[in-house]
Amino acid sequence: MKEIAASKDLVARCGLYCGACRSQLKGSCPGCRDNVKASWCKIRTCCADHSYATCADCKDFEDPNDCPKFNNLISKVIGVVMNSNRKACVLKIRELGLEEYAVFMSGQKRQSLPRRGA
Ligand code: SF4
Ligand code: SF4
Repeated sequence: MKEIAASKDLVARCGLYCGACRSQLKGSCPGCRDNVKASWCKIRTCCADHSYATCADCKDFEDPNDCPKFNNLISKVIGVVMNSNRKACVLKIRELGLEEYAVFMSGQKRQSLPRRGA
């Protein structure tokens, strides 16, 4: 198991922090950015097509939850089950910038900001 590192390259397109994800730490997933198998993900594809590092760079949606690719029934259910708030992650990236966000999330050992108990 790797140590949790602070790297902007480990910030997922949707704002999650892959650097604190067990799969990435175990070496079974390279993280969102390098995971070419994740072609199913509309968020990842959209950001790549627009050359956005993450949805925090989006020019079309100030509130990512207004975007149907970012916010849909499946993502809502996953967010509740995982206690994950990707909108809060995107807003935090805007506030701190990508590098500081990686430092913040690695320090918190968090893959996502929580919906509850923040
Ligand atoms: S949901 Fe999409 S953008 Fe978010 S980590 Fe997974 S593949 Fe990346
Ligand atoms: S918020 Fe929606 S449109 Fe904007 S970059 Fe993310 S997925 Fe693409």
